[in-house]
Amino acid sequence: MSFQIIDGKAVAAEIYEELRPRVLRLITSGCQPGLAVVLVGNNPASQVYVRNKEKACEKLGIRSFRYHFPETTEVAKLVELIDSLNANPEVHGILVQLPLPPHVEEREVLYRIAPEKDVDGFHPCNLGRLMIGDPLFLPCTPWGVQELLVRYGIEVEGKHVVIVGRSNIVGKPLAMMLVQKAKGANATVTVCHTRTIDLSEHTKRADILVVACGSPGAVTGDMVKEGVVVIDVGINRVGEKLVGDVDFESVAPKASYITPVPGGVGPMTVAMLMANTVKAAERFFEARGRW
Ligand code: NDP
Repeated sequence: MSFQIIDGKAVAAEIYEELRPRVLRLITSGCQPGLAVVLVGNNPASQVYVRNKEKACEKLGIRSFRYHFPETTEVAKLVELIDSLNANPEVHGILVQLPLPPHVEEREVLYRIAPEKDVDGFHPCNLGRLMIGDPLFLPCTPWGVQELLVRYGIEVEGKHVVIVGRSNIVGKPLAMMLVQKAKGANATVTVCHTRTIDLSEHTKRADILVVACGSPGAVTGDMVKEGVVVIDVGINRVGEKLVGDVDFESVAPKASYITPVPGGVGPMTVAMLMANTVKAAERFFEARGRW
């Protein structure tokens, strides 16, 4: 079977073009969108992600504010910063780069972000709204996955989607999104994890397989059926190379569509963050009757 590559970079570029006039409209009304990015410690991967997000802001004309704290920073200090960002009218979106150092209880920081500035979509309020089908901000990576499927015209309705991974930032919210009674959803969803017995029995039944388990090459060609659509969320550094969670060489020949790593879901995560930030700014200024 010949497969088609799902080009996340190209779709992300399309999304930036759609956002550009919205940002311009905000700026010309004196309402420049602003994103605050909070980074704690010196995790090299986190630094790259933060830089990519700042570059995307620059490209679109969104102001970015970086707050970089040492690894040993106390929770109280981070909470104090979040409170001040919640109150800052120049900041419309707040992003705390994960992972946080082990001594910081993630929830204490993430739950402090005002839900209307929670552009990562991790606040329980936003996750709850997603669950009941009334979303405000969708988590960026799962939203990026859904957007890729929609923009490639891959029908999800009635399909069996199998997700490998049940994290709060990818697997679980994606399952919630795709099971909704809504456009781009209406799927039958199976979620697998490390306690799943016989993973390949499930992956073989997938029409659409999304892999987000953080384990390089966890899904191989013998674990999928012919014609499957494969979305590889994984980003793993193996030596000098970035690889996904799917063994591309053996899976691609059986797939109808497949995302590459890099260049698949990664650019979409950043694009959806920009979309959420623009939306947050529009809501902020609309609420104040500024434009
Ligand atoms: P987590 O480590 O938080 O979660 C991994 C999940 O996968 C867990 O639910 C775990 O199960 C499950 N899992 C791990 N190994 C296996 C296995 N062999 N078989 C079945 N299930 C397994 O990871 P994240 O969700 O944060 O990230 C997943 C991957 O996606 C990573 O490679 C990460 O770098 C990447 N990522 C990429 C993004 C992008 O923009 N492209 C954004 C976010 C993440 P259990 O719950 O039982 O432990």
